[in-house]
Amino acid sequence: MRTLSSISVDTETKRAWIGGGVLLGGLYHAIAEKSPVLAFPAGTCPMVGAGGHVSGGGEGTLTRKYGLAADNVIDAKIVNADGAILDRESMGEDLFWAIRGGGGASFGIILAYKIKLVSVPSIVTVFAPNRTLEQNATKIVYLWQHIAYKLDRDLFIRILITQEHRNGKLTVQAQFQSLFLGKADKLLPLMQESFPELGLRREDCTELKWIEAALFFSDLPDGSTVNDLVTRNPNPRTYYKAKSDYVTEPISEVALEGLWKRFYEAEAEKAQLIFSPSGGRMY
Ligand SMILES: Cc1cc2nc3c(=O)[nH]c(=O)nc-3n(C[C@H](O)[C@H](O)[C@H](O)COP(=O)(O)OP(=O)(O)OC[C@H]3O[C@@H](n4cnc5c(N)ncnc54)[C@H](O)[C@@H]3O)c2cc1C
Repeated sequence: MRTLSSISVDTETKRAWIGGGVLLGGLYHAIAEKSPVLAFPAGTCPMVGAGGHVSGGGEGTLTRKYGLAADNVIDAKIVNADGAILDRESMGEDLFWAIRGGGGASFGIILAYKIKLVSVPSIVTVFAPNRTLEQNATKIVYLWQHIAYKLDRDLFIRILITQEHRNGKLTVQAQFQSLFLGKADKLLPLMQESFPELGLRREDCTELKWIEAALFFSDLPDGSTVNDLVTRNPNPRTYYKAKSDYVTEPISEVALEGLWKRFYEAEAEKAQLIFSPSGGRMY
């Protein structure tokens, strides 16, 4: 698919045509090169391909405000099993609906998508405070479940749970990886009102451009720059197994404590658990 990697951004109409083999990092970079206040709502990992990602849905830090990647597709070109090349008009609305969530490769090969770009401020704020079990992580994670989905749509807070060594002792850490579509002076009162238990301070916040926030949320190694978002060759190359599920009822504190126990096992050294919020447009 890598030969289908053209990206054509039109900042006037806020539309772009992107090839079915484009990777998300390359897409974010290409949009930012044309405009610092336009973006596309999709996943956080730069090496995920638009082909499978967009046709399966595609969620990320802008999803609560703008919906899934698939919600922002307005036309597409596909090759069907007969070798015919179809666009939205010639494929019809049923097939066009199916390729926006029905999964890659189920209905044909996506040659390109026409996507709607969305507005982001010239300055956004990121923060990622850590809380260990000794710092009340269980309670804060529990409370997060009750507020994360109904926060202001400009605010996205997900949690990364990992095993950590602190002062020679093994513990579990919750990192609250967050994006606010605005500046810190507007964010701080919002956090004080909606999630005071996290205890966010001004010094936890970094103001930057949207594309730098995309780098912040990427899994690229420390020291990477926004230009590294376009890479197709991860270095170091990592391998892992992952699975996802939807949680529709808050997990109790007792159940969370049961989950944490798994992080003390030797094989959990590199384990990660990510809680990602829904709400906003995602109803
Ligand atoms: C590191 C990592 C991070 C992720 N982060 C997120 C995230 O933040 N948000 C999120 O929503 N999801 C995320 N995902 C899940 C990701 O969206 C899916 O795994 C998606 O299917 C990947 O698509 P791909 O094209 O990269 O993968 P592939 O394995 O290449 O393709 C997946 C499927 O789509 C088909 N396909 C690919 N391209 C096309 C095309 N042009 N036309 C037709 N069919 C095609 C393939 O045949 C295959 O069946 C992540 C996955 C990984 C590995």
